[in-house]
Amino acid sequence: MDLIRQLQGELDGLAARGLRRFRRTANTACGARVNVGGRELLAFCSNDYLGLAGDPRLAQAMAEGASRYGAGSGASHLISGHSYAHEALEQALAAFLSPHVPQARSLGFSTGYMANLALIAALSASADETEIFSEALNHASLIDGMRLARAPLRVYPHGDAAALAGMLAASTARTKLVVTDSVFSMDGDLAPLPRLLALCEQYGAWLVVDDAHGFGVLGAGGRGALEHFGLRSEHLVYMGTLGKAAGVAGAFVCAHETVIEWMIQRARPYIYTTAQPPALAHALLASLRIIDSPEGAQRRARLGELAGVLSETLALRAWRLPPSPTAIQPIIIGDNDAAMRAAARLYESGFWVPAIRPPTVPAGTARLRLTLSAAHEPDDVAALARAVNGIESGS
Ligand SMILES: *Cc1c(COP(=O)(O)O)cnc(C)c1O
Repeated sequence: MDLIRQLQGELDGLAARGLRRFRRTANTACGARVNVGGRELLAFCSNDYLGLAGDPRLAQAMAEGASRYGAGSGASHLISGHSYAHEALEQALAAFLSPHVPQARSLGFSTGYMANLALIAALSASADETEIFSEALNHASLIDGMRLARAPLRVYPHGDAAALAGMLAASTARTKLVVTDSVFSMDGDLAPLPRLLALCEQYGAWLVVDDAHGFGVLGAGGRGALEHFGLRSEHLVYMGTLGKAAGVAGAFVCAHETVIEWMIQRARPYIYTTAQPPALAHALLASLRIIDSPEGAQRRARLGELAGVLSETLALRAWRLPPSPTAIQPIIIGDNDAAMRAAARLYESGFWVPAIRPPTVPAGTARLRLTLSAAHEPDDVAALARAVNGIESGS
């Protein structure tokens, strides 16, 4: 029992430092209002930006997919798990992104975490000839992909294209991989993708873009960060997730068809895992049709409207709402305990908003990370903003 006691000691240490995390159990579909332990809360914490996760049309499509293809895929894609639904989804996503990716092909994954592991490992297949350049605030799954790749790694400061330029100029590696989130998940700000892409073209590097928070949200057509900035290049390797704005689960990589074929042959996190249930791919086809429709555009417009209501109704004195063009709208408080207290007070008042502390964010920038969804009404956002105003003035 020494092993158990040792772990228990570690857990007690986390609790003593206020760092032990816990889960709240919801009884209802993801949406603007969720039921937790019999209480209805107004939720500003999910990544369901377009309000599709609880949409009955997607649940219906999933049921239809399950009745057609069964519950599970039965095997990995390369053995026998690749269904017509997976194939149709890959083709639809490639067509959707084709304005931005020449000779686009896409490849589906069960999660974005797996997609990032696979694409970084595949592109740096020969570790001794590869160098990776990573943005300082990249997502954990990108960082773990780089660990798996075992290629030399250089980290450039957040948003600092000039620093990246210096590193690329000094590199003698045959394969250079620049890896970045498009939308940073704790701030909602955007990477300077046009400058990064220009550098990648100048130095013959790949630009890996993780658009987890941009796909479906950014760009008039919902094509994400590449559409937002009007980018198109063979140097782009795009990763979009399908469990956030798309409302289901899964992810895809979209790139030149040769890159995708290489991944199918070489990416171990693609090859050695069971294919996602086909019913999910079937539901995602329905989700993509909504994203790519006038209704999708209305949902994106709603997000902009809600961000406007938030900034107009908040009347902050010391706390700050930095400008964010995305659905991620953090309120920077600074002090850890003050952020925790604010989240607890909001929770008591019926608002579910997570507090984020270091080391997830830099010291002194503890915050409420609130996320907007097209499922919210303007009045929901105004009510939250008034509650935040009241807590700040009383604190
Ligand atoms: C959520 C997220 C992922 C992981 O995607 P999952 O489909 O949830 O595994 C990857 N990158 C970023 C930036 C994310 O926010």
